[in-house]
Amino acid sequence: MPPGMQAASLNFITNGSPMVSSGQRRKILVTGGAGYIGSHVVKALIEQGEDVVVFDNLSTGFAWSVADAELVVGDLADRGALNDLFGRHQFEAVLHFAANIWVGESVRKPAKYYRNNVANALNLFELASDHDVAHLIFSSTAAVYGQPDVSLLNETLPSAPINPYGASKTMAERLLTDIAATSSMTFAILRYFNVAGADPESRIGEATPFNNHLVKIALETALGLRESMAINGTDYPTEDGTCIRDYIHVEDLAAAHVAALQHLRQGHPSTVCNCGYGHGHSVREVIDVAKEITGVDFEVREGPRRPGDPAELVADNTKIRSLFSWQPRYDDLRMIVDTAWRWERVLFDRRTSRDDAFDLRQSA
Ligand code: UDP
Repeated sequence: MPPGMQAASLNFITNGSPMVSSGQRRKILVTGGAGYIGSHVVKALIEQGEDVVVFDNLSTGFAWSVADAELVVGDLADRGALNDLFGRHQFEAVLHFAANIWVGESVRKPAKYYRNNVANALNLFELASDHDVAHLIFSSTAAVYGQPDVSLLNETLPSAPINPYGASKTMAERLLTDIAATSSMTFAILRYFNVAGADPESRIGEATPFNNHLVKIALETALGLRESMAINGTDYPTEDGTCIRDYIHVEDLAAAHVAALQHLRQGHPSTVCNCGYGHGHSVREVIDVAKEITGVDFEVREGPRRPGDPAELVADNTKIRSLFSWQPRYDDLRMIVDTAWRWERVLFDRRTSRDDAFDLRQSA
């Protein structure tokens, strides 16, 4: 355990009614479970009494973020290691998060995205199917929709990605669909909108260096880690001229994964679901809330549009609500920013107290 990390902070409390009793535990493999979203899902699964094994190469994840799960450090490109892992455990389900996620980087380094998000996913999907995994849950993205004409997106829209990141996820969705069709494995593809927020008890949160997401950037600016921030375009056809996105709290997203697993376990067929709240906030709104929550009037510049940014992306979440009986608990921008802010200060304190485990360079 890294110095400065309190043992208590790693013991997630089990509350609610567990999905499985200890007598009938079935193992779940979570790839990328040491990352931002993956670690919140691992926490949620453990709270439900699940037995979780995390497989992560720690390229952008952190060992400290994996709670009571067994961590196996490895890479999905290593088919042998993956095969051994499937041989050692009888996984009932696989949740696949391990991937690269930056649109801009994907344009500069497409091969990296196709290798990691497609070729490595192929290794995983094939082995999962070969080893009789019953269910697979795949982290996908609203980026598969590209730049649709409509602002409220539902799952029947065609995939039309406009960058290699979105294309890599579209390809992986197809691989999964085709491979699952050859076995009894059922799957849920979850397409995330804008994920933000952190564990309300600030034990885990987004810690990846050089993260470009709006909430993170605003809070780093409030902390003084950035001199100022820019609004990427103020001439969009929206009420205040800035882009609108559907921000979903990572805890609600984690709950959606638990619900998806339950749904598949009940014997329902494979499905694709959007994960969002069904309403959006503009960039200016997010910045205003960040200023209000932090109490810091940080400097904001009005910059040019960022290439490839659609004016508005909001999830039609009718399907996930009806199919999984998923009820968001954190559908409130202030709550999202508040939990993210509390986490950001914990992270700041740990980094400034020279805790090596939180050193930015570790995963640079
Ligand atoms: N954005 C911004 N300034 C920043 C970072 C992001 O104006 O410093 C805008 C971005 O152009 C987009 C919205 O905030 O319109 C959300 O961007 P983010 O990168 O968080 O998520 P994305 O929607 O690209 O997945």
